[in-house]
Amino acid sequence: MDVSSYLEWPFFESEHADLARGVDAWAAAYFANRKFAEDRDSVDHACRQLVSELGRAGWTRYSVPGARGERHVGAPPAGDGHRADESSGGPEAQGPSRRSAGSGTHGADETRNGRLVGDPSRSGFDVRSLAIIRETLARHDALADFAFAMQGLGSGAISLAGSAELKERYLPRVASGEAIAAFALSETGAGSDVAAIRCSARRDGDSYVLDGEKTWISNGGIAEFYCVFARTSDPEVRPDGTVAARGISAFVVDADAPGFSIARRIDVISPHPLATLSFNGCRVPVGHLLGAEGDGFKLAMRTLNVFRTSVAGAALGFGQRALDEALDHAVQRPMFGKTLADFQLTQATLADMATELEAARLLTYRAAWLHDMGRPCAKEVAMAKMTATESAQRVIDQAVQMFGGRGVMHGERVEQLYRDIRALRIYEGATEVQKLIIGRELLNMAKKGS
Ligand SMILES: Cc1cc2nc3c(=O)[nH]c(=O)nc-3n(C[C@H](O)[C@H](O)[C@H](O)COP(=O)(O)OP(=O)(O)OC[C@H]3O[C@@H](n4cnc5c(N)ncnc54)[C@H](O)[C@@H]3O)c2cc1C
Repeated sequence: MDVSSYLEWPFFESEHADLARGVDAWAAAYFANRKFAEDRDSVDHACRQLVSELGRAGWTRYSVPGARGERHVGAPPAGDGHRADESSGGPEAQGPSRRSAGSGTHGADETRNGRLVGDPSRSGFDVRSLAIIRETLARHDALADFAFAMQGLGSGAISLAGSAELKERYLPRVASGEAIAAFALSETGAGSDVAAIRCSARRDGDSYVLDGEKTWISNGGIAEFYCVFARTSDPEVRPDGTVAARGISAFVVDADAPGFSIARRIDVISPHPLATLSFNGCRVPVGHLLGAEGDGFKLAMRTLNVFRTSVAGAALGFGQRALDEALDHAVQRPMFGKTLADFQLTQATLADMATELEAARLLTYRAAWLHDMGRPCAKEVAMAKMTATESAQRVIDQAVQMFGGRGVMHGERVEQLYRDIRALRIYEGATEVQKLIIGRELLNMAKKGS
């Protein structure tokens, strides 16, 4: 595939095509003679090495706004195109005003009356570049995509709300690949329902003291620091049994903080460092609070709103690799005196695969462009994440089918892709959560008559 053909679309600038080509060339060279074993120690080691090499190559600089010492590609200059009136930086954004069946989800509560919580135009992130890098890396290797993605997601709350001191302390080392970052929001009883988190943080003199657990934390066990979301006031349970998202705050917790430990590691079908974290009287300085006390839920949603489009980018990379593998296989596999590619059923399948991917790519880069232009984009981001991950899953399944028995054999690329894609439909807001966001946005618009 010509890796840069889609970069001629009007969503992009010439720098984006250069970026895609640069990352593609780097990844092709890096993975030319490398294959990772899947045991935990090998994966941890590979991940540390990847973060360091991605840093050395300059790609992790895209994880931190301003780390490249320039305005992000295509960003409108300040005061031009930043529609502050359409994004709720104001008081109404200070906490959720209502909650639906899925409220408190990784995303379902991030809009109020059709407005985005937070101001995407001021996030400073170049989401098109994040999605391009993830799509490109994912085409080569899932762990490389993971290592890159977590530097941004893991430090995003610092970029968006950290004090100057915290930014100075953590972000340069994230951008250079010297420090590994993690984002710790989920708990056993609070995944889609984020507001239900129970991990607590109480003020004690110059410190906050954290108690509780976080689970499903990517980079758990190898991260140098964690952006942790915890309750600084008791949960308010409403008469209908739902929990208000007020009273959640965010903190930076160093891996060597007293009272912090890795409770257990978690192994998944597409291996990457993942753990349950334990906080047992874990003391962090007051200066490690991110943003204002009580604003943590909003900060978590702002962070996810930036990075969710890049999940769609990664899904496109996995899906594109599956399509490329299927095309190669179809023209080579002899069957019934011809090749698999000679049959119209095969051609129809390939047509479906390519069309689904291209439609998902259009949605993905439209969402990234809207974000970068400072436009409201909650619905479009949700559409992109849902469509790209669901489409890539179908495309990869079709590729496995075309490979026959080989498709499910360990060591085959399509078998690996089949495992790599699955979690993307669950994390950073499951598909059902994206549907709730889209539905809510549509209804809000209908009620306003727009
Ligand atoms: C590989 C992996 C990496 C992860 N990394 C991180 C990380 O780094 N940091 C972090 O904080 N978390 C992380 N997570 C956690 C992830 O965000 C949660 O798994 C996700 O939010 C779903 O939560 P849950 O697993 O508790 O499932 P549940 O909340 O129990 O949801 C189960 C299913 O219910 C469905 N559902 C959800 N809402 C509704 C609804 N309103 N109506 C109908 N159905 C619904 C969805 O299909 C969902 O998958 C990771 C998860 C995985 C699998």
